[in-house]
Amino acid sequence: MSLTVHQFPCLSDNYGFLVRDDATGKVATIDTPDADAILAALKTLGWSLDLILNTHWHPDHAGGNAAIQAATGATIVGPQEVTRIAPLDRPVGQGDTVALGETTLSVIDTGGHTLGHIAYYDAADRIAFVGDTLFALGCGRLFEGTAEQMWGSLAKLTALPDDTTVYCAHEYTASNARFALSVDDEPALKIRADQVFAARERGEPTVPTTIGLEKATNPFLRAPLLRPHLSPAEAFGEIRAAKDGFKG
Ligand code: ZN
Ligand code: FE
Repeated sequence: MSLTVHQFPCLSDNYGFLVRDDATGKVATIDTPDADAILAALKTLGWSLDLILNTHWHPDHAGGNAAIQAATGATIVGPQEVTRIAPLDRPVGQGDTVALGETTLSVIDTGGHTLGHIAYYDAADRIAFVGDTLFALGCGRLFEGTAEQMWGSLAKLTALPDDTTVYCAHEYTASNARFALSVDDEPALKIRADQVFAARERGEPTVPTTIGLEKATNPFLRAPLLRPHLSPAEAFGEIRAAKDGFKG
């Protein structure tokens, strides 16, 4: 079993992901940030689209559903909240599985950024598509959920194996690194931040990341260590609030 992931930048700082199950040639797009860019990438690759897998309802994730479905006939899978702005064929939630050919993707409820946000996890290949829940050196803003809910969601992701490859939906890493350095003097973070700044200067992506790397250097996941006097969820909430007000 294996998946091929084609990653490409789109909009101002989103990533598009086209995912192919190698055994069967079935293809999914993770979210629909930019219908034209996704359809162009499919054409270049010579792939035909079977599934649209949404992580949450925000327009830079579900806004291209209608146009891509009209062009490809793909089936749309996602959390119920997607229907706020876009078509959805199959609502899914925690514990559901989605078949992409011979690959099984497990749905993990990761509410917090939005209430219904979900992630998709391929346990056989140790690959997770986490939308706007976990970023490289960062995490999603709490637009709808509470710090407690988001901390619980992040805990589900950090429970995955350390070598899990994590595809996040935005290239926010350099600005996340500047904030991280302002709240955490962990040596591994400093090394990683330098690598991130250099990669971005060269125009290279810093996504994907891994669960192990985030556990070691992401200040949101390290919040209980940085704020040991608080409960883990409160510590996380404090770091999250500090980032929201950070001018770096
Ligand atoms: Zn979002
Ligand atoms: Fe987003």
